[in-house]
Amino acid sequence: MKNLLSFGFGDAMRMGASEIIAAGIRRDVAMERAVVLPQQTHSANVAVVEHRHLDRLRNGDATSWPEIFGDTDALITRLPGVWIGVRTADCVPVLLCADDIRAIAAIHAGWKGTRSDIVGATVRRLVDMGADAARIRAYIGPCICADCYEVSPELAEEFRAAGLAAGVLQPAAANPTGGTDAGAACSAGAPTTDGRQDTASPRPHIDLKECNRLRLIRAGVSDTLITISHHCTRHTTDTSPTGSGHPLYSYRRNPGETGRNITAIRLCELNG
Ligand SMILES: [Zn+2]
Repeated sequence: MKNLLSFGFGDAMRMGASEIIAAGIRRDVAMERAVVLPQQTHSANVAVVEHRHLDRLRNGDATSWPEIFGDTDALITRLPGVWIGVRTADCVPVLLCADDIRAIAAIHAGWKGTRSDIVGATVRRLVDMGADAARIRAYIGPCICADCYEVSPELAEEFRAAGLAAGVLQPAAANPTGGTDAGAACSAGAPTTDGRQDTASPRPHIDLKECNRLRLIRAGVSDTLITISHHCTRHTTDTSPTGSGHPLYSYRRNPGETGRNITAIRLCELNG
């Protein structure tokens, strides 16, 4: 598994007792078996990965991780050396590490999961297991950035009603493309969530990284222990530090792409 850390493009680092990776990959059966992945149905359901789940795949009782973790969007484990992760294209991958109980979590938070607070649900599960929320380290991974994420006024209102007004950006009428040059370039021709294009008035944008940062803080996580990836899945043109030159995947940029970004975390062995 060591070569996973040099695969693709994104972030790779140590986080407390864990190591993490966020990388864009093509559909890869071996990789998808090596990392425990939930089915991801935009639910707020959290599951704990235990030895009996690993045995099910090993014994042939199940053929894939999503089959074992159906209707689930967040995984927790205390098993050292086991990669858990999520697949995303523009949604938000969030990783947690509770050093005090040696537990980790991988969370898929799309706009639905962000609105329904799946990161808060996962933090609360870790606290139920004995973790101190204020000591949890968090990583918010590559996802669509606020400049690129134009939404309908109705969705923006739902986010405000869910207590996430600070993550909703309303461009000024005199500047309908919304701010920076990068933002203008990203927003051009971007499809909206409901498929409509409203050129008469500027449409709101949602900052999903900021919304999930707010969710984490409200769940008791310390702001100083939250790391936020600077990568945007949609407009990034950076190349890999490993030289592969492979960008991250974006549903909005390439709707037909079969690749996904995998963001994964594992607990290091005690001597690791
Ligand atoms: Zn962007």
